[in-house]
Amino acid sequence: MDSERLIRQLEVEGFKVQHDPEVPLGDIAVINTCGFIGDAKEESINVILEQIERKKEGKLRRLYVMGCLSQRYLEELKGELPEVDRFYGKFDWDGIICDLGADMHNDMMCERRVTTPSHYAYLKISEGCNRHCAYCAIPIITGRHISRPMEEIVEEVRGLVRQGVKELQVIAQELTYYGLDLYGERRIAQLVEAVAAVEGVEWIRLHYAYPTDFPMELLDVMRTNPKVCRYLDIALQHISDPVLDKMHRHITAEQTRRLIRDIRAAVPGIHLRTTMMVGHPGETEEAFGELLDFVRETRFERLGAFAYSEEEGTWSAGHYADDIPEETKQARLSKLMRVQQRISSEVQGEKVGQRMRVIIDRREGDYWVGRTEFDSPEVDPEVLIAVKDSPDVEVGRFYDVTVTSADDFDLYSTIL
Ligand code: SF4
Repeated sequence: MDSERLIRQLEVEGFKVQHDPEVPLGDIAVINTCGFIGDAKEESINVILEQIERKKEGKLRRLYVMGCLSQRYLEELKGELPEVDRFYGKFDWDGIICDLGADMHNDMMCERRVTTPSHYAYLKISEGCNRHCAYCAIPIITGRHISRPMEEIVEEVRGLVRQGVKELQVIAQELTYYGLDLYGERRIAQLVEAVAAVEGVEWIRLHYAYPTDFPMELLDVMRTNPKVCRYLDIALQHISDPVLDKMHRHITAEQTRRLIRDIRAAVPGIHLRTTMMVGHPGETEEAFGELLDFVRETRFERLGAFAYSEEEGTWSAGHYADDIPEETKQARLSKLMRVQQRISSEVQGEKVGQRMRVIIDRREGDYWVGRTEFDSPEVDPEVLIAVKDSPDVEVGRFYDVTVTSADDFDLYSTIL
């Protein structure tokens, strides 16, 4: 979204901006980086190196790097990548716009050029995080939680709807904290209702809830408001009490189990996406076994996992030895994902024969590719519809389908 806002600011100033690095447009490149965990950092560095190559070949005149990675490792990057003309911190918008010879339009900060398919957009409702999960570098980079005012968010939603957006992926580092800093109370439920009230919004999907002090009133909105997808992305990270304690998650296994039961009871049919971490310091074989049992018994509809990577500046890095060998971490990760694959396959199989509403994202070869309310873009399963059976489908439109078959991940369906 930061990139989308920057693009809008530059377009207003007359720049032509291309978002896809595979299709370079001009002789200036601006790379917005992520610096949270190992994989994202590596991806950001690779993109920078690709653009440095282009610069060496004379295809690029200026190369600028902004975002979390440059905020976190400013001095190191300056020393190691002298080909980059300038690095900016995550929030130094003025600097980059000024260096590009443009003027900043503060009155247009809510405007964005959507770079996702035009029928959905991400909606960031806050920046930063007040939690102190021991392994996490995000608060170091982004600072404390700052909620955006509700009116500003709703105004942005109106603008997005005018551009054709129908589905919003609401995101925050800690979604359920929304409002506490600004209004003195959690207001995520009210915010979701306010967004749902905007005409033209059809689906709202919620990402990155935190389990401790979960605002239960949000579940009422999810159950009663048909625009709110029965979908919740809630990162749990682990279930073993000693590991949760070392991670500073401020929740126990029993509280976690109760919360999951309560969410499922309050919103029948809800699909939960969670994220688990394996290999955090203190994760014994027994603790990992507990995690596997929990995943088997809870049957999360969607689950992602990653191996612990030590991040400098975090509590875990400063206080615990990263003493679980990398092979063990990777073996645990594979085992966990194999368990989840079986669950996912069963969950998808249960949908065969059901009638569902899908939004079409794109055409890929012989299929239209869509999603149900239970599927977030890029991470979740998709719904495939044969083009030969329904040649006139439109991307960005909703259709009712019957699911005819399923594989481990995706569903196949026909339009009703
Ligand atoms: S809640 Fe999320 S973003 Fe915040 S510190 Fe914990 S893991 Fe990091």
